[in-house]
Amino acid sequence: MSELMMNLDGQEVSFQRDETVLEVAKRHGTFVPTLCWDERLDPFGSCRLCVVEVEGRRMPASSCTLKAAEGMVVRTGSEKLRKMQSTLVEMVLSENPDDECPRCRDLGSCEVHDLASEFKVGRDRFLGATSNASKDDSNPFLLRDYDRCISCYRCVRICDEVEADHAITMTGRGWNKGIATAFDGLLMGSECTLCGQCIYTCPTGALADKKMVGQGAVPGEIEVTRSVCPYCGTGCSINLHSRDGKMIGVTPVLDGPVNEGALCVKGQFGFDFVNSEDRLTMPLIRKEGELTPVSWDEALDYTSARFKSIRADHGPKAFYAIASGRAPGEGAYMLQKFTRAVMNSNQVDNCSRG
Ligand code: SF4
Ligand code: SF4
Repeated sequence: MSELMMNLDGQEVSFQRDETVLEVAKRHGTFVPTLCWDERLDPFGSCRLCVVEVEGRRMPASSCTLKAAEGMVVRTGSEKLRKMQSTLVEMVLSENPDDECPRCRDLGSCEVHDLASEFKVGRDRFLGATSNASKDDSNPFLLRDYDRCISCYRCVRICDEVEADHAITMTGRGWNKGIATAFDGLLMGSECTLCGQCIYTCPTGALADKKMVGQGAVPGEIEVTRSVCPYCGTGCSINLHSRDGKMIGVTPVLDGPVNEGALCVKGQFGFDFVNSEDRLTMPLIRKEGELTPVSWDEALDYTSARFKSIRADHGPKAFYAIASGRAPGEGAYMLQKFTRAVMNSNQVDNCSRG
C-alpha cells in the first residue's frame, strides 16, 4: 500500500490514517502552540491556538481536531497565524490576577508563561475584569486557584477520560465559569481520589501541589531525578524534585511505561517522610522502657540472640517477617531468604506483592 502524503510548510511528509494535522506537525518537529491539548486526551479544539492554514479553506482551522488527508497543503507559521496566536496568548494571560504564577515559581515553568515568552507578550493590553472564581478548599494536597483558570477543561477531561473518576466538571458561563464538584462541595467530600492528575495537566498556575508551592522559598535550582515509586509493587515512574539537596515534591513521568503519567495519592503526595526529622538514623534498643541509641554491632548481636532464643523457645512458626513496601527488591529478596533459610519459616509478606 502506498504511503499517505501531505504537504507541511512546503515539505512533502507522510502520515498515518486517522492522524491529526497537529500530530503530524509534532512528529516532524514543527512548532504549533497548544494549550487545551494533552496527548493523553481526546482532541478538544477549544483554545484555538493550534490554528493552521489549509489550502482551499477560507478560515484557519484548529489542527488538533483536523484529520490529515492525502494531498492536503498546510502552512503553520505565517505572520497572520502568529499574530492570531500571540493575541490569543495575551487574552489568556490577562485572566491572571497578577504576574506571580505558583507553578513557574515552584516548578520553573508553566505552559501559558512559556508561550508568553515565546510570543513576547504580557498581560497588560487586555487587562480588565477577572472571574474571582476561586473558593476556599481545605484539602491538604491540591491548590485550586481558579482566578488563573483559562477554561481549557484539561483537568475535567483527564479526571473523566484517564482517571474515570468524574469528580469535577465545568459550571457557569462567562465570568461565572468555574470548576466544581458535585453539589459544588469541597474536593475532600467528592468522588476525587486525590490522584493529582488534574494538577499535572493544567497548563497554568490554577492547580498546583500545595506542598510543593509551600517550598517556593527554598533557594537554588530545581533538580529533577527520574525514579520509581517505592510504595507498592506496581513500579510507577516518578520525577523527584529537589532544591539544594532537599526534596520538594514529586511529579509523574508522562512516558512512564507502567503508569503513563498516572499516580495514586500516596505516590503523588506521600513523600513527607523523606525530610521527616522523625526518621531513624541509628539503631535503637529499648532499655528500661526507653528507646536508646546503640552501635550497629550491639544492635546486630542483640537481634541475633533474640531471634535464636525465640526460635528455640517457640519454634520457627513464631517468626513472621514483613518487608516494607519502601524497601528495594534486593532487600525484600534477602528478607524472604533469611526467613526461609535461616529461621526455617515460610511466614513472609510484603505490601508490594501486587
Ligand atoms: S485529583 Fe484526580 S480524581 Fe481528583 S479531581 Fe484531580 S484528576 Fe480528578
Ligand atoms: S483549572 Fe487548569 S486544567 Fe482546569 S480548566 Fe482551568 S486552566 Fe484548564
